[in-house]
Amino acid sequence: MIKNIPTVALRGLTILPSMLVHFDISRQQSLKAVEEALKEDQRLFVVTQKSMETENPEEKDLYRIGTVVEIRQVVKLPKGILRILAEGMYRAELTALEVSEYLCADLAVFMEEEADPVRSEAVLRSLKESFELYSRSNNKISKEQVRQIIELQGLEKTAGQIATALPVYYEEKQRILEAPTLMERCELLCTLMEQEIAVLRVRQELEEKVRSRIDKNQREYILREQMKLIREELKEDNLNEADQFAQELKKLKASKKVKEKIQKEIDRYRGIGVNSAESAVIRGYIETLLSLPWDRVSRDNKDIANAREVLERDHYGLEKVKERILEFLSVRILTKKGDSPILCLVGPPGTGKTSIARSIAKALDKKYVRISLGGVRDEAEIRGHRRTYIGAMPGRIATGLRSAGVKNPLMLLDEIDKLSSDYKGDTASAMLEVLDSEQNHKFSDHYVEIPLDLSEVLFIATANDVQTIPRPLLDRMELIEITSYTENEKFHIAREHLWEKQIERNGLSGYKVTITDNALRRVISGYTREAGVRGLERKLGEICRKVARDIIEKKKKSAKITESSLVKYLGKVRYTVQELNEHNEIGIVRGLAWTSVGGDTLQIEVNTMPGKGEFRLTGQLGDVMKESAQAGISYIRSVSGKYGIADEYFSKHDIHIHIPEGAVPKDGPSAGVTMATAMISAITGIPVRADIAMTGEITLRGRVLPIGGLKEKLLAAKSAGMKLVFVPEKNRPDIGEISDEIKNGLDIRYAKSMEDILPIALVKEID
Ligand code: ADP
Repeated sequence: MIKNIPTVALRGLTILPSMLVHFDISRQQSLKAVEEALKEDQRLFVVTQKSMETENPEEKDLYRIGTVVEIRQVVKLPKGILRILAEGMYRAELTALEVSEYLCADLAVFMEEEADPVRSEAVLRSLKESFELYSRSNNKISKEQVRQIIELQGLEKTAGQIATALPVYYEEKQRILEAPTLMERCELLCTLMEQEIAVLRVRQELEEKVRSRIDKNQREYILREQMKLIREELKEDNLNEADQFAQELKKLKASKKVKEKIQKEIDRYRGIGVNSAESAVIRGYIETLLSLPWDRVSRDNKDIANAREVLERDHYGLEKVKERILEFLSVRILTKKGDSPILCLVGPPGTGKTSIARSIAKALDKKYVRISLGGVRDEAEIRGHRRTYIGAMPGRIATGLRSAGVKNPLMLLDEIDKLSSDYKGDTASAMLEVLDSEQNHKFSDHYVEIPLDLSEVLFIATANDVQTIPRPLLDRMELIEITSYTENEKFHIAREHLWEKQIERNGLSGYKVTITDNALRRVISGYTREAGVRGLERKLGEICRKVARDIIEKKKKSAKITESSLVKYLGKVRYTVQELNEHNEIGIVRGLAWTSVGGDTLQIEVNTMPGKGEFRLTGQLGDVMKESAQAGISYIRSVSGKYGIADEYFSKHDIHIHIPEGAVPKDGPSAGVTMATAMISAITGIPVRADIAMTGEITLRGRVLPIGGLKEKLLAAKSAGMKLVFVPEKNRPDIGEISDEIKNGLDIRYAKSMEDILPIALVKEID
């Protein structure tokens, strides 16, 4: 029990025993109390006000439990403030308060019971641990402070120091102070710290979140700023590009109308953001427009002598073709205008159609572009796609013009006969618009939109087969036929052109690589079978590649290819000349056909068998051939008496005609005589000579009608080893135009009717 001890009411602060604290006082009552205390034993009772606002507290305004402290130091601060350093001594309960000049209290003092040392040690440790943990998450507590506290001895002292260091509200500390025993106070302190740790952790998490959110915002902000900059620069690019386009436009040779349209597009491009989807489309469009030739032309070489020279230099033979081309060019020069008909070179593959066209371009100093029409089925490939389609492109004609770079190039329309139409529009009519001189000065490409002038383009077409060229197109073309080459022509072509070309192409120019004439002939006859020379060129290329390898691997300086060393380069001989049937046979006759890839022989077989007069045709037959077979039968029936064929024969036998190999002939009915001969042979049982071939159509009366493709057919007969060939009498004038090389060694007979053929073709076997 203590009586009349000077008392200070604390605001917002609670002092626990063993706490060493600074606190400032300024109220008169408090200053006086401190003064009184300093006069006596420097002890002071400090007790916390319930509310911080109360200026002159009475007993009811104060908590009941406070602490008796010892004043250690008093410092005077300006404005009458005293800073007191005091240390908590023990807890006491306020029993009475006298409010006069200063507060004066009567206290009841608690007796602390001795704690169990083991327990207090345990509590001490856990206090320190908690504090350490707490200090880690609260950076307001310095390492030094922590160290000091950890080193402290005694539970009360430690608890006091920890309570001092803990930045918690005074209410919390008051709660601790009010706990009756030291143990309980320590436990409260521990829980308080745990709580604080949890709170701190949550706060940290929150802070982290907030920070990361801020970071994210900031990041986005920075990126956005950068993007803005990039965009601005790009837009600049767009503008730069637009300027560049404008510059190019200035240099462009084109009509005012075209230029205006392009200018409009450039202006549109300028105003459009880079990131708009349209920007790329417009750019592509402007680029296309700027790259088209419009009014740019190249100067033609009008020297016909030069043209002749170039054609002669590049191609062997083909006299007629060259003549026709020179005529065509002369007319073109005279008329000045490009509305001369379109040339169409027709012939089997590999006969030099493409390369002649290239030579013409060279002769005229024209730019050359090749447009392959083989397999083109979609009109848009010729006329372009509308720009509204994704990935739209100009058509092949516009693209060709663009790559030529001038409006008057030579444009080769390769394989015009392979053009086909499907549901996606009519390719032939698009082509017609290209070729028609009435329309083609305003050819409209869907992509380009501005009409293109094709009137100065020199079109040359190539085809294998005239029959598959759409009629309206055919009408606008002038056909120049290129026929198959003879072995001799092939030999010269190879000798004078192909060999050198391959030597050069395979890098052998610096070496002495030769091929003997015999070897060359053997390559032609033994390794190729074709109308043109493409296969031959390939074979020569093959030889050159092998030689090149020898030169590299075996360090050879030269090579000579002879007939006997050919096997080393090309392997075994593929074709032998002898294709003759070994024996004269019944019902088998060799016909001659003219196909789109050259001439060919076709073997017709006829069998007869007991039956009901039925008639069957199998194998590669066109409709026309079927009809000519029917005509053959009628003819045979009309002459059955002469060949000793019984009247009822036809009603009691079936006749089967078969054509085992060979393509469908392109000249239609030319196998009439062949079928009729085979049938008579089969019916009468008289064999047919194996070394003859024939061609010609027959009438019901057995007259023989003329045929086409004579040169090809004779060549085919010759390479099949035939000795005698029947051709229609009416073709006699054509034979005069065929070179002796082909005719030599062939016994050519002319037939007016079947009567001229049968006695020779059918052989009476001698029993
Ligand atoms: P096509 O277009 O008729 O299918 P190419 O023009 O492609 O045939 O000819 C194939 C190859 O044969 C080319 O290298 C070409 O130069 C050559 N060629 C064809 N005919 C002759 C010829 N009469 N003189 C020289 N070379 C020729």
